Amino acid sequence: MDFSFTDDQRDFRAALRQLVEKEIIPVANEWERSGRYPTEIVARLREMGLFGITTPEEYGGLELDMVSFTLAYEEIARGWMGIAGILGSHNLACWMIAKHGTAEQKRQWLPRLASGECRTGIGLTAPGAGTDLQGIATTATKSGDDYVIRGTKTWITNARHANVLPVLVKTDPTAQPAHKGMSILLVDTTTPGFTVSRDLGKLGYKGTESCEIFLDDVTVPQSALLGGVEGRGMQQALSGLEIGRLNRRPQCRHRPGVLRRRARLRPRTHRIRQADRRIPGPSSSNSPISRPNCRRPG
Ligand SMILES: Cc1cc2nc3c(=O)[nH]c(=O)nc-3n(C[C@H](O)[C@H](O)[C@H](O)COP(=O)(O)OP(=O)(O)OC[C@H]3O[C@@H](n4cnc5c(N)ncnc54)[C@H](O)[C@@H]3O)c2cc1C
Repeated sequence: MDFSFTDDQRDFRAALRQLVEKEIIPVANEWERSGRYPTEIVARLREMGLFGITTPEEYGGLELDMVSFTLAYEEIARGWMGIAGILGSHNLACWMIAKHGTAEQKRQWLPRLASGECRTGIGLTAPGAGTDLQGIATTATKSGDDYVIRGTKTWITNARHANVLPVLVKTDPTAQPAHKGMSILLVDTTTPGFTVSRDLGKLGYKGTESCEIFLDDVTVPQSALLGGVEGRGMQQALSGLEIGRLNRRPQCRHRPGVLRRRARLRPRTHRIRQADRRIPGPSSSNSPISRPNCRRPG
């Protein structure tokens, strides 16, 4: 088996290194310490198409292989783990929608998520139910053609910036085993009753927010059910978490390096590569799919 990188993977890594050296490392220590949101870096990630790493090309994504996917997190986490966090749960959610979503769900969300115009994350963890997701108390009750969601989610990355959030719920809280009654609903975060109730304090891994979300009778249409079938939510979530491991490991690997750099904090001159090998992002003008504005109100 050949474990060497392809030319495309090497070029991709070189472009990421340039971004990290030039635009992330110079600000990472200061912004991590102050808790400032990396708006400018997010804009660059958008330009480079990195919100669409896992999304199929037909929806405007880069549709990169899993080695390139891992390289992205390895390089970015080397500069600032928080930035890898912003991309991590977003790309994981996109991957879940692309793999399990209905044709309509893919058309509705993927083009805007791939371009970074819309943002997402994953809403799995609930108070008292992290590793054991079957213990969540979040429910979604059928009401006519809608689902009414009630419960709390916690530690949700990108919560304040997400336009749509896949939320793991129990559509049948009596099911045994519990996973047979679990489903994922794609919740538009502007829906009444969806509240980001607080930001959770962290010792590090700033840059991206980690929040608690309160779902107070959030009513979503049946068409928000991921894949259109109840009882598949746990499998859908686990399949997403499987690729999540590929972005977690590089982040953990580089965390000590980032801490060391912070400890040594001193002015540095960074070598900047001359060649600007930026990755072209998905071009909206070429896209056959329209991208309505999905900016959150306020
Ligand atoms: C910074 C941050 C960001 C996060 N982002 C998100 C997000 O975007 N979306 C989301 O849904 N969640 C998110 N989470 C939540 C994260 O997924 C959970 O913290 C994780 O699943 C662990 O759950 P827990 O914290 O409840 O720990 P617990 O489940 O209580 O586990 C505590 C320890 O016990 C071990 N353990 C648990 N059960 C067993 C067992 N049966 N056998 C052996 N060992 C066991 C675990 O491995 C762990 O070491 C985030 C968490 C953090 C800290």
